[in-house]
Amino acid sequence: MTRTSKLGAPLATVKTPLSGNEAMSKFNNFPTTELGKISTAYAAARKGLEALVTDIGKGTQKGSKVDTTFIKYFGAVEKESLKYLVDACKAMSAKIASLTFKVYYDANYAHGNAEMLSYTSRDVLRGLNTATVSDIQSWETAQINTGGSRMTIGPSCFTNPMWAQDAQCIIETLLHELSHHAAGTVDDTNGGACYGIEGVNRLKAQGSDRAVRNAENVGFFCMAWVGRIN
Ligand SMILES: [Zn+2]
Repeated sequence: MTRTSKLGAPLATVKTPLSGNEAMSKFNNFPTTELGKISTAYAAARKGLEALVTDIGKGTQKGSKVDTTFIKYFGAVEKESLKYLVDACKAMSAKIASLTFKVYYDANYAHGNAEMLSYTSRDVLRGLNTATVSDIQSWETAQINTGGSRMTIGPSCFTNPMWAQDAQCIIETLLHELSHHAAGTVDDTNGGACYGIEGVNRLKAQGSDRAVRNAENVGFFCMAWVGRIN
């Protein structure tokens, strides 16, 4: 899930200032039973993104892990799509490691597993790109001190397994939401499903230009670098 923002016009609801101990914590308002899980998921997602960025640094040439995994989740490699994805993964890795990135539990959140503000890079209805990852980073910078880097997690997130490949899981939920916020991905429901392996395969069939901007495809792609946790 995502709350979308028109370019340059962030949602007013994220402007609640952080204060006191709240501003010091990475994980906020979690029940004791779920705190360990979100902490484990965060560490795994962060480590996976670091490994992914390291692999990107080694090269994205044909036959590399980045190349073969791209084909699996986005279809045939197109130069612009690969560039967007590389920028997106670097931005996600930087964001998850930043002090301003915070995760909040909301027992009343019922619109899906989680949400995070997105500065969208694609107009879903018209299928147009409207921003680069670089644009998104400059808009997001203005929100850092006003709660703009909050991720909200709802109870349903914890009904998923911690780790899964090619299915939703707690770690993938973090990666999915992070891609909205750090890279401007969308939930591309234009024409059908966008979640789960069904959504991933549907967007992949539309071509990599659309698939790389669908949050679920990016989340599933990144999971290929997250070590298995049972
Ligand atoms: Zn989403």
